[in-house]
Amino acid sequence: MSINLETFDTNQVGIKIYDLISELYPICRSITGNGVRKTLHILERYISLAIYEVPTGSQVFDWVVPKEWNIHDAYVKNAKGEKVIDFEKSNLHVLNYSTPIHQRMPLTELKEHLFSMPEYPDLIPYRTSYYRENWGFCLSYRTWQELEEGEYEVYIDSALEDGFLTYGECFLPGETDDEVLFSCHICHPSLCNDNLSGISVATFLASYLGSLPSKRYSYRFLFVPGTIGSITWLCLNENQAHRIKHGLVLSGVGDAGNMTYKKSRRGNAEIDQAVIHALKVSNKAYAVEEFSPYGYDERQYCSPGFNLPVGRLSRTPFGQYPEYHTSADNLEFIKPASLADSFATCLNVIQVLEHNKNYLNANPKCEPQLGKRGLYGTLGGKQNTKAREMAMLWVLNLSDGTHTLLDIAERAGLPFQMIYEVTEALLQAGLLREYSDGIEKTR
Ligand code: ZN
Repeated sequence: MSINLETFDTNQVGIKIYDLISELYPICRSITGNGVRKTLHILERYISLAIYEVPTGSQVFDWVVPKEWNIHDAYVKNAKGEKVIDFEKSNLHVLNYSTPIHQRMPLTELKEHLFSMPEYPDLIPYRTSYYRENWGFCLSYRTWQELEEGEYEVYIDSALEDGFLTYGECFLPGETDDEVLFSCHICHPSLCNDNLSGISVATFLASYLGSLPSKRYSYRFLFVPGTIGSITWLCLNENQAHRIKHGLVLSGVGDAGNMTYKKSRRGNAEIDQAVIHALKVSNKAYAVEEFSPYGYDERQYCSPGFNLPVGRLSRTPFGQYPEYHTSADNLEFIKPASLADSFATCLNVIQVLEHNKNYLNANPKCEPQLGKRGLYGTLGGKQNTKAREMAMLWVLNLSDGTHTLLDIAERAGLPFQMIYEVTEALLQAGLLREYSDGIEKTR
């Protein structure tokens, strides 16, 4: 496989990713229900998805698949019959997973079921109550303050019934059964960065990888509700989870902040090395976080019983921007350029993973004479001739079967792409042989 980002119009991809987010934005999603199904059906226009329906009550490790939740309408009317809170204006207004209700009550009783944020008085907070039956409304603190004493009509036309948990899976077979996992959560309603950005970047990655004629790895894209979805997938696929050799959870990849990588629980997995290298050579500011057992679905993939090499790629980490889990995580908050940059970062990581192999120097006793093989100073007439010569010397010197190309790139302080390109030239000149698990491969 070869990804040539120089010929790739990532800006155009950024706009397309943004357009998909715009289409998904109005849908009221939750951890179960028709919002998830509708979302997955839209993704099916871009990629082929296997859609799974897991019944309510299914035991998945220590958890149980909950009842399915669907909502049609909800409002609060004041004594004059005016809608003071209206689900049609924003689906964040309803406490996600609210049980149905149609009742009149005084303001004091209503207020026990209202959620707002005095610290951000104009924003509607996003709140859920998945595992404790409750009803409620979320509203801006300004609206909350304007509520007058009196009787209110409370109406939530929802259904919480036995049904299914729905998730989608896009599997792209490669030359080996070894897999690269991309996982994103699909349970949030009208919130763009968290996590329509992850869903849409993953969709375009899957679409692009699907268009390539060959891949070293198989690729698995999971579109699952947060926590319960990844737990369900791991429970149903326990026996094949070991095939995941590298993985990334994608979330919050559309805001204008810098990239942040959260390491896998292992901390020194190839995915950790590959992402950090890709960020380092991007010449943009970035941050690396150590693993912690809190966050998105990396918590499940990195639970000790699986301990998969799965890290998390985000831009500004969740909870560290005021728009997080509020109505301000909207279409203005995310940027096509940021989405494009996140997409390109993922492709750079994939490029490293696909080509990161061990080689053996076929001429290890003293340096081979590069000049007579046309390898000195003539590599495609490109700039960085000196750096390319250094790259060749490093590859030849460290190709003893114990260093991957990524190890060599790190040791040489050179971009992986350059190390990979000179490796191809050295292979063609017969100066390297592929080496894997102690067995030389003929090429
Ligand atoms: Zn969230």
